Amino acid sequence: MLTYTYISKGEFGLVEKPKPTIQHEGDAIVKVTLASICSSDLHIKHGSVPRAVEGITVGHEMVGVVEEVGSAVTHVKPGDRVTVNVETFCGECFFCKKGFVNNCTDKNGGWALGCRIDGGQAEYVRVPFADQGLNKIPDTVTDRQALLVGDVLATGYWAAKISEITEDDTVLIIGAGPTGICTLLCVMLKNPKRIIVCEKDENRIKFVNEHYPDVLTVTPDECLGLSVRTAITAVRMWCLRLPEQRTPSSLHGSVRDRMPSSRWWRFTTRHRPCLCLTCTERT
Ligand SMILES: [Zn+2]
Ligand SMILES: [Zn+2]
Repeated sequence: MLTYTYISKGEFGLVEKPKPTIQHEGDAIVKVTLASICSSDLHIKHGSVPRAVEGITVGHEMVGVVEEVGSAVTHVKPGDRVTVNVETFCGECFFCKKGFVNNCTDKNGGWALGCRIDGGQAEYVRVPFADQGLNKIPDTVTDRQALLVGDVLATGYWAAKISEITEDDTVLIIGAGPTGICTLLCVMLKNPKRIIVCEKDENRIKFVNEHYPDVLTVTPDECLGLSVRTAITAVRMWCLRLPEQRTPSSLHGSVRDRMPSSRWWRFTTRHRPCLCLTCTERT
């Protein structure tokens, strides 16, 4: 089958590979019908994901039809239409039990698909821990409608959830790409007093202004004067992070990130301690 593969830094290409097979009893093979592209794929291409393995097929958010399951898989069966979660996770380790599945300690845990093991920009994908990472799509939902469940929409939902937004809050969302828009939709469910979206791309600003007229759009420069309690980066979620530290991302493992040094940013980050042990051990 043809796969879209990370060949080396700066180079992706179409590579012929054999169809994946079941390797463990918890695996499932999914025939991919749609797969999304994420900015994290570009980070791999640019060489900024140290754990990415050269030669892996990229793609970590897919929908498809279950083709085959291992003997231990009970939640899905061949023929089921499913979403594939970006995270593979055991469901049993300390972090999984606390809900921080991106820190799953299994060697295939966290962001493995399309980073450390072959992902879904291909005809078929092998999904470890299929009972955890596959969700059946209801008959009333199309593949296209369900596509963003595994990563983009989940990121926005998680961001809105852990931000503990109240109706008295002003929420700042940084970035209005697909994840930013999904974050915006999820934040709107919390009905905060005000929502501000920071974005520099004119087309994205126009989209937000047209579709969400109650939302204030600002540019990064205009952001410098803001003071808010709740800020969400829609590219990845931050917790307590300092310049040049490795910090946990919402879904894709830890990343090295240079912090903006504006006063409001330091203020908000100082007041957003992370619950993740990986993070608190480092800070
Ligand atoms: Zn992603
Ligand atoms: Zn785990």
